[in-house]
Amino acid sequence: MTEEKFIHDCKTVLKFIQLYCESEHIKTKKSKNSIQLNYNDKNLNKKIDYLLCKKCKKTLNYSYVKLQECIHDDKPSCRKCPKPCYDKAEWKHLAKIMRYSGLRLGILKIKNKLFRRFKKSA
Ligand SMILES: [Zn+2]
Repeated sequence: MTEEKFIHDCKTVLKFIQLYCESEHIKTKKSKNSIQLNYNDKNLNKKIDYLLCKKCKKTLNYSYVKLQECIHDDKPSCRKCPKPCYDKAEWKHLAKIMRYSGLRLGILKIKNKLFRRFKKSA
């Protein structure tokens, strides 16, 4: 995949895990961290910061490594991948996170839309 696609996918997966951690692991201690993005042994000069609990950090790192190792030039969405590279348990866990955050992001979008409409008519 292209570097742009790689960066985009890293950011997307982080966004979903971050949202999940914020809402589901409220009482778990989180620490600030960052990932320096490398792809095909090339330093992309891009750093992404995050605030996650230990468990979610592991999930993020796992996804990051899998993205780096993705064999597809034109990467399909992982859900439709003919050759899934995730370990079954990890995959189940991440699928849960994606579903959870996807739903929440959808709701947030609708809320924002409604709010804007409200403001307009006020
Ligand atoms: Zn967490």
